[in-house]
Amino acid sequence: MSKIYQGSCLCGGIQFSVSGFSAKAANCYCSMCRKFHGAAFGTLVGVQGLQWLSGEKLLKEFVAANGTIRTFCSDCGSSLGFRTKGSMHDDIELAISTFDDDIPVKIDAQIYTAYKANWCQLDTTLPVFTEGRQDG
Ligand SMILES: [Zn+2]
Ligand SMILES: [Zn+2]
Repeated sequence: MSKIYQGSCLCGGIQFSVSGFSAKAANCYCSMCRKFHGAAFGTLVGVQGLQWLSGEKLLKEFVAANGTIRTFCSDCGSSLGFRTKGSMHDDIELAISTFDDDIPVKIDAQIYTAYKANWCQLDTTLPVFTEGRQDG
């Protein structure tokens, strides 16, 4: 059995587990991530083997004007997931900060920095992309 990593929303109503992560994760400074997370940037990571352990009925989706779908807890408002238009439920990326313990993910880029808030300082040790990653 591979290791299982668990996460949850702020109220604890929604709990989930995954068995693995995508190799890369970026801090995204676009205005949509900022508003969705209520923070200077959002960080989402691709996952493997996602299972909703409890509270799946609390999940609510917001579909933005560009068709991207953001998932959050309808009780506490925690930002949980992101997927692009037309992607399957399995292709969801999860908000990295909702994991309950340390996870084997390394932030390797800062993206959409053209849209960052003026009061926010970038991490000088990480590559910066004013729009998306060059290599996707
Ligand atoms: Zn919640
Ligand atoms: Zn973003």
